[in-house]
Amino acid sequence: MWLPVCTSDQRTDTATADGAPDPADERVVEEANGPRFGFSRQWSPASLRCVDTEDLRLAVYERFRRGEIPRVATLASGMSTTPEQVSAGLASLAAGRHLALGQDGGITMAHPFTAVPLGFSVMGRDSLWWGGCAWDSFALPHLLPDQAPMLVATTCPACEQAHAWQVDDHEPPVGDQVAHFLVPTARMWDDVVFTCSNQRIFCSETCVTAWLDRSGRRRGYVMDLPTLWRLAPVGTPAGPSAATSDASQAPLRTICRM
Ligand SMILES: [Zn+2]
Ligand SMILES: [Zn+2]
Repeated sequence: MWLPVCTSDQRTDTATADGAPDPADERVVEEANGPRFGFSRQWSPASLRCVDTEDLRLAVYERFRRGEIPRVATLASGMSTTPEQVSAGLASLAAGRHLALGQDGGITMAHPFTAVPLGFSVMGRDSLWWGGCAWDSFALPHLLPDQAPMLVATTCPACEQAHAWQVDDHEPPVGDQVAHFLVPTARMWDDVVFTCSNQRIFCSETCVTAWLDRSGRRRGYVMDLPTLWRLAPVGTPAGPSAATSDASQAPLRTICRM
């Protein structure tokens, strides 16, 4: 059995046409009692099981899609690699803004999914998710139309009035409420969890003003629900069916953490 040489710049130039590493390459060594690897035998086989970040990204989304929170340990076992390799891969994805990590290195968000409550819940036909922000919550029915219509629920941050809408990918939900985005788009990745936790839906402009007065924050961008719904597909740039990364994001590559 051959395993690929693992850094993105090394993998292709040491592989033969059929994908196997070139035996003539001096970096390829044969283990006496095991498989051949593209690195010196001084490393253990486990440490050589590299993580392709696109595979990892899709594994993260697949677990979120199933209504699970993707954990480092379960991702590692599912990909037959080590938690260290997964953590390195996640750090690379976070650097490329494909997802957001918490201080413990765990996954906090992979838009439009979130592992933490941010004011919304979204119920599909057979699964229930935290909804992320208003934008993310309205994006889920676009990303997973087979689960739609989804019940998106929240409370107004100003008066705690409960609100819920049936949202699908065909037409905007009915409602006079408004969405308020506190952080400008250009600054949203400065602290994306803060950004998403402040993209909320209010009863009305009156409640937005009341909340701003109370919190001492400056008014951001206010939109009606049809506008939010039309924006929603833009909130799904890296969904599970996406074959390639969004052009605005960093390129994906194979990660080897030694
Ligand atoms: Zn209100
Ligand atoms: Zn969000």
